[in-house]
Amino acid sequence: MENNKIRVRFAPSPTGHLHIGGARTALFNYLFARKYNGTFILRIEDTDELRSTRESMHSIFESLKWLGLNWDEGAMSEDDEKGDYGPYIQSKREARGIYKKYVDFLIEKGYAYYCYCTPEELEEMRKKATLEKRPPRYDGRCRNLTNEQIEKFRAEGRKPVIRFKMPDDGVTEWNDLIHGHLSFENKLLYDFIMIKASGYPTYNFACVIDDHLMEMSHIIRGDDHISNTPLQINLYKAFGWKLPEFAHLSMILGPDGSRLSKRHGATSVGEYRKEGYLPNTMKNYLALLGWSTKDSQQIFEVGELEEKFSLDGCQKNPAIFDPVKLKWMNGEYIRKLSKDQLFDYAIPFIKDAGIDLSKSRVSPVEIVALEQEKYKLLSDIPKLVDFFFIDEINYNPDAVEKVLKKPEVLKILSGIKAVYTSIDDFKDTVIEEKTRAFAKENGYKAGQVFHPLRVSVSGRTEGPTLFKMMEYFGKDLVIKRIDEALKIVSDSLS
Ligand code: GLU
Repeated sequence: MENNKIRVRFAPSPTGHLHIGGARTALFNYLFARKYNGTFILRIEDTDELRSTRESMHSIFESLKWLGLNWDEGAMSEDDEKGDYGPYIQSKREARGIYKKYVDFLIEKGYAYYCYCTPEELEEMRKKATLEKRPPRYDGRCRNLTNEQIEKFRAEGRKPVIRFKMPDDGVTEWNDLIHGHLSFENKLLYDFIMIKASGYPTYNFACVIDDHLMEMSHIIRGDDHISNTPLQINLYKAFGWKLPEFAHLSMILGPDGSRLSKRHGATSVGEYRKEGYLPNTMKNYLALLGWSTKDSQQIFEVGELEEKFSLDGCQKNPAIFDPVKLKWMNGEYIRKLSKDQLFDYAIPFIKDAGIDLSKSRVSPVEIVALEQEKYKLLSDIPKLVDFFFIDEINYNPDAVEKVLKKPEVLKILSGIKAVYTSIDDFKDTVIEEKTRAFAKENGYKAGQVFHPLRVSVSGRTEGPTLFKMMEYFGKDLVIKRIDEALKIVSDSLS
């Protein structure tokens, strides 16, 4: 492969957030470009005037940046672009009149024609075709209108669309880099609309013009576009343009085998971000949706995907999106982070939970790292660390009932309080040693002492390692809380 000639694009329609499927397409294009030292381009396909929004465009940019899929050329934000092939937003290209001369060319050469059919006539045509068990395709009735007919339609105020005249026979075929040889009979294709009544180009038309003008070498996209490809290839042929290579990525299914959708849970990248997934987890996980190495490697170091990715490793069978595996992988990625990295990622989640980080005796970085092994999501963090940042704890009523209201607890807590009061160096190892010694001397099992202690100092039955937690709380707070717990226990006895 001639490395410097590789040009690929991600071409989202800004009609919503970036979804898992779109993100996977963007990632594969990005990886392919990186692997072959090519150029990764972002083009915005906003030819759907009704559904395209600036907010969606913004959200797509944000998600791509968050995933680290940095693009070399294209629309860099809603208003900026970079590269010599711009504009990279199709509405701006349309405003510049870029598409018009190609439409004129096709009309002049007899490859395209005006169609005046009304929505009602088209509906009629569809019904008839369905009744006759034919594919519901446009029947070509406007292909050869006389001047008189055209005048009449115009006088009626009909606004025409422009259709491509599909060849009636022969086949359209290509060697798909993932699906192999694909072939479509032209008689099953249809005279698709290139220019809508509004004067705006359709996806199929603008996409081909732009892919050609932007010199794309490979078109890597979801296999939901396989049916568009023969239409597009016929356009390339009409212009006499060289075809790019096509690679259609496998479909993504939910765990139940149906096409991935809202029913399966979060579908947009932004939702996963909010739920507490790391960008590197998403990147790694998405890479495995339809691609694998020969040895089925699961976790990739930084830069490894860029090195190992290839279209040869892409499969055509559908990929299954498995949320359980994704969560597992996130835990793995969280464990790989340094304490500082983890803290940086945790900050927004901690702040959102209303926790005031200035309220801790020890470095919040250390506190957040205490339970690093346990986190699966960044959103798990606040509830495992919040009690380090508050003065008053709320005792969990269940924990009080089950753990504190036991006959021996009053004696245990008073005894341990005396022990802790005499410790000067309130470090986890010292506290642990003294606590164990206390249990042993008084004939208690370790758990009999540890459990009420945990509830006394944290209000809960679960949390980080007990002695480290007490060290971080500090002696005064620990004793204060043991006193509170003692009060609860003695009140319940009276
Ligand atoms: N705008 C199209 C989409 O979002 C792009 C398809 C293509 O890559 O050609 O599905």
